[in-house]
Amino acid sequence: MTLQHPAYAQLRQITPVAAVMLENNPGMYSLDGTNTWVLRAPGRDDCIVVDPGDDDPEHLARVAGVGTVALTLVSHRHHDHTGGLQRFHELTGAPVRAVHEEFHRGAGGAFERDEVIEAAGLAVRVLHTPGHTADSVSFVIEGEGSVLTADTILGRGTTVLDASDGNLRDYLDSLDLLIGLGPGRTVLPGHGPELPDLETVARYYRAHREERLAQVRDALDTLGSHADVRAVVEHVYTDVDETLWPAAEQSVRVQLEYLRS
Ligand SMILES: [Zn+2]
Repeated sequence: MTLQHPAYAQLRQITPVAAVMLENNPGMYSLDGTNTWVLRAPGRDDCIVVDPGDDDPEHLARVAGVGTVALTLVSHRHHDHTGGLQRFHELTGAPVRAVHEEFHRGAGGAFERDEVIEAAGLAVRVLHTPGHTADSVSFVIEGEGSVLTADTILGRGTTVLDASDGNLRDYLDSLDLLIGLGPGRTVLPGHGPELPDLETVARYYRAHREERLAQVRDALDTLGSHADVRAVVEHVYTDVDETLWPAAEQSVRVQLEYLRS
């Protein structure tokens, strides 16, 4: 039987190279949980792991058990992607590479601009795609062309830009970068199910952002240009369940920064 999302505690193969282990940490921002990605060239035992996930010993042990981990990569700083990093490093001994130095382990280090990482018989290109956070990156699996988009593009809904270091201008540029990769690329997201075509989804995300921006501009016209975040959320996000308003507040904060800058 073919596994479907969400399949907890099982390694689910998505493309010839990429398989996902879904962590059981569902939540407002993590949807069904964090997708930990295992990249393995056909016929090889060793692999690259992207985002070990939160500090869940069972999940981490399960991921560490899939084979020899040659390298661990971090998509961005959020705890649901990095909380288990230290434990995972202790389990596997694999070096860890990330934008932020605090996550580097072993011989790991930062990413060069447009670097192609070669490990475990694979070539993985690093794309700097800031916006969700300042340190967000995406990874292109060279050859098959699928893209690990982390929280820049999710498998369902749209992403929330972090109120502390998220940036809408950067995010729109990052979406344009992903759109520019062209059609036919499988989306391997940080949360939610995989999607068949990155270009289509990135264009939808861009349109969604433009639509929300127009709504926020309208709200400021109605409420006054100094309206606070909460007032704008209550005006704009009437189509979104109130339990999601804290997330909407983050996005509105980032949008107001963009409009006021
Ligand atoms: Zn995140």
